[in-house]
Amino acid sequence: MAKIQMKTPIVEMDGDEMTRVLWQWIKEDLILPYVDLKTEYYDLGLPERDRTDDAVTVAAAEANKKYGVGVKCATITPNAQRVEEYKLKKMWKSPNGTIRRILDGTVFRAPILAKGITPYIPGWKKPIVLARHAYGDVYSGVETRAEAGDKAYLLVEGANGEVKQKLLVQDFSKGGGIVQSVHNLDASIASFARSCFNYALDVKMPLWFATKDTISKTYDHRFKDIFAEIFEKEYKEKFAAAGIEYMYTLIDDAVARVVRSEGGILWACKNYDGDVMSDMVATAYGSLGMMTSVLVSPEGNYEFEAAHGTVTRHYYKHLKGEETSTNSVATIFAWTGALAKRGELDGIPALTAFAKKLERATVETIEAGEMTGDLVSLFKAEGVTPKKLNSRGFLQAVASRLE
Ligand code: NAP
Ligand code: MG
Repeated sequence: MAKIQMKTPIVEMDGDEMTRVLWQWIKEDLILPYVDLKTEYYDLGLPERDRTDDAVTVAAAEANKKYGVGVKCATITPNAQRVEEYKLKKMWKSPNGTIRRILDGTVFRAPILAKGITPYIPGWKKPIVLARHAYGDVYSGVETRAEAGDKAYLLVEGANGEVKQKLLVQDFSKGGGIVQSVHNLDASIASFARSCFNYALDVKMPLWFATKDTISKTYDHRFKDIFAEIFEKEYKEKFAAAGIEYMYTLIDDAVARVVRSEGGILWACKNYDGDVMSDMVATAYGSLGMMTSVLVSPEGNYEFEAAHGTVTRHYYKHLKGEETSTNSVATIFAWTGALAKRGELDGIPALTAFAKKLERATVETIEAGEMTGDLVSLFKAEGVTPKKLNSRGFLQAVASRLE
């Protein structure tokens, strides 16, 4: 069989530890036999980031901007212990943070469902995709303690330093306490909104957005208004044509609806809500190894990755020559996401179809009872006894199903 030809390269960002090992095997076993793979390769493994003073991360992000589609392996975000372990020049910043800053995007996280792996909320039959705004609010808040007798104000100065507004936050005359100030930017909220609308159209899922605008009548209300204005002007007709809807509701109502739903929703969250709710949703679906993540920029650039890290504990076992059983599903789906998107953008239906086949083969392998160790205890299906495979064994089982 002739290999599928590509036109534009995918920006390939290699990574660290166990996921770097899986990366190579996924390409060898599942992609290279079928696709004449064209990539522009960037090694974001920690030694190379250190050697290039992290310039390789910036170059990869710029390439992702140029070509539109990238796929990234999990990478180490160094802490003090890693600086020692890898003898680093300095404690380099999180590559994901750097890429996010350059692409200016929104992160979407979606679970991969397989029959037999039952979510802790059994009513969830379809994926719930969470979109988290990654700018502002308490993450760049200013806060302090106040003593008894203090008065705290919110002060706004104009461009020439003149006091434009002075609002009393609290008179602490009856005792000390705490005070906090947060902000956001219209432009950032607008780009968050567009990313969500575009993604909903892309995957044809209804979009829910929720804040607490009944209480926060200026701050949260601004989010609601910006979403509403952009929807009305730019997306209303496209949503109607795609047969999906946009709904705004209160955050507490959204939580109740999501739990009662059967899934199949794109749920847009403000920064803090997204932080908390994405962990809740990921855990409720079962395993970190089954959660995909994609960064979508307002200009339509895509960076696909797995939501989990480099699985360090498994890597140390691997180095000692011991057998590992590391789940590669989310990393396979990062590759298929990138291949399918590239096929779509370049008009190569065979490439997109191959990506979908690989996804199906991966899920069907699990459904047939062949899986990695993390899934075995979660798996329940009548007449199927789950079998634990090692890391490479799982990839080979998927490969033979793909054949
Ligand atoms: P992690 O690599 O996600 O692993 C945490 C634990 O979750 C593992 O020890 C393992 O549990 C389980 N796990 C995660 N992914 C799995 C998989 N694919 N298959 C099977 N089990 C899996 O998180 P971490 O230990 O907090 O971080 C390790 C390194 O990854 C750090 O250096 C961190 O900076 C980096 N990190 C990178 C990214 C990214 O690049 N996107 C994200 C998060 C963390 P058991 O050991 O119990 O089997
Ligand atoms: Mg969190």
